[in-house]
Amino acid sequence: QAWDLKGKVSDMEGKIRNYQTKVRSVNEENELLKGSVAQSRNRLSDLEREVESQKSKIWSEMFSLGFEAKSLNNFTSIQSMFVLSSCSGYEVELQALCGVREDLKHMTSEKNFVIIFPLCRVVFTCVSELMFLFVLQGNIRVFCRVRPLVDGGLSSHIQLAPSDNKSITLAKTEESHTGKSADTHKNYHFSFDQVFGPHASQQQIFEEISLLVQSALDGYNVCCFAYGQTGSGKTYTMEGEEFDDSRGVIPRAVQQIFRAGEKLESQGWEFNFTASFVEIYNETLRDLLYTGKPSKRPEHEIRKSNNEVTVTNLTYKQVCSEGQVLDLIALAKQNRSTAQTAQNDRSSRSHSVFQLQIEGANAGRDVRCKSTLCLVDLAGSERMVKSQSQGERFKEMTSINSSLSNLGIVITSLANKESHVPYRNSKLTYLLQGCLGGNSKTLMFVNISPEPDSFGETLNSLRFASKVNDCVIGTASSNKK
Ligand code: ADP
Ligand code: MG
Repeated sequence: QAWDLKGKVSDMEGKIRNYQTKVRSVNEENELLKGSVAQSRNRLSDLEREVESQKSKIWSEMFSLGFEAKSLNNFTSIQSMFVLSSCSGYEVELQALCGVREDLKHMTSEKNFVIIFPLCRVVFTCVSELMFLFVLQGNIRVFCRVRPLVDGGLSSHIQLAPSDNKSITLAKTEESHTGKSADTHKNYHFSFDQVFGPHASQQQIFEEISLLVQSALDGYNVCCFAYGQTGSGKTYTMEGEEFDDSRGVIPRAVQQIFRAGEKLESQGWEFNFTASFVEIYNETLRDLLYTGKPSKRPEHEIRKSNNEVTVTNLTYKQVCSEGQVLDLIALAKQNRSTAQTAQNDRSSRSHSVFQLQIEGANAGRDVRCKSTLCLVDLAGSERMVKSQSQGERFKEMTSINSSLSNLGIVITSLANKESHVPYRNSKLTYLLQGCLGGNSKTLMFVNISPEPDSFGETLNSLRFASKVNDCVIGTASSNKK
């Protein structure tokens, strides 16, 4: 019917009006939302810009820091102070950044936090890398050096990884005695900061430690040991032979110190060098720079006062040139060989400790530094064969073994931050007290003989050295005032 149709149309019209109103209000809402979206976008890009600027600030800081950390290798005193100060500045920077992060967290949605979080991760990764770099400066580092076989080549039980120069494997094959069971193979893996094969030259070895030597001029105490069984190349590594190419660590270090010292003198530094050379045999000290009558040789005691270790009646020779020190080294060598003829093979059972005290002052900048460079050729680490060791020989062996194991104990207790470090348990560690631990940089060479019949001693040496290698003795600090 017509009336019904009319009613339906007007119903529809009402509905349409309703929809139109709804659409209008939805449109209005949409406009509003669009506005707030635009606002949010603006805020987001503001935040992103903020993040970018923080990021680039951090990166430039990191770069300059990295650069300065690297230039620590060039060792001028100012640079290393720079690093320290920029390090503390950096902490502030980091705290500021953390503050920014907190603020942003409050202001922003999770979406923005997704951007901020990786940034912080980047920063923290960089920080931990830096920390690692700085801690490394204070670590004990261990280098392994394999002596060549007398007729050249490398014996098959020692395997050096061709790809890296940080690992060494000792391989042992035990043949079946009965011939019935299969031979057994056993591999012992070790890794160190560096492993030098039999072809490594004296020059290559020194290149790796010259940074350490140089930092002695920058106010760090530096100690370098050679550990290993008799005949493994300790003396060759430390002293070497007289010809240029085969000179060892000691003469090269002395040369470097004096050359670098001269350079620093042109920048206003003045240096005072004092050398001493001691032998420790059976827990008794002997002055290797003594020139008086043999019958009048004085006795020596280690004293410690004001945190400084001195030896009574010891020759402390002021030196001002490389030549003078080389003369003293020759004198020490002669002194040792005189003692050697009286007691066969004495040098392999005694420790010899060369120390160069360095005092520097820069009046213009009002900076001073004081440090000691210690270079130590340790007694042979071989264990005694029971049947052979009686009387004097027994006393010798026990004192060598106890002083070497005490060296290990001192290093371990430093690494564990124990309140008591037993420096006084042996003359060696007592003498080196100032050069081991907190304020020093330490390097140990473990020297290895390649002959198959040295297998057991080699394994012992590598085990000792890797225990040392696991130690982290805190961060070294410079004695600069
Ligand atoms: P240690 O002091 O440990 O008893 P040495 O340094 O006296 O051992 O070395 C024993 C022998 O091996 C010496 O004749 C030395 O010249 C030689 N030698 C040691 N290391 C090397 C090396 N890397 N290259 C060549 N000859 C070496
Ligand atoms: Mg020797």
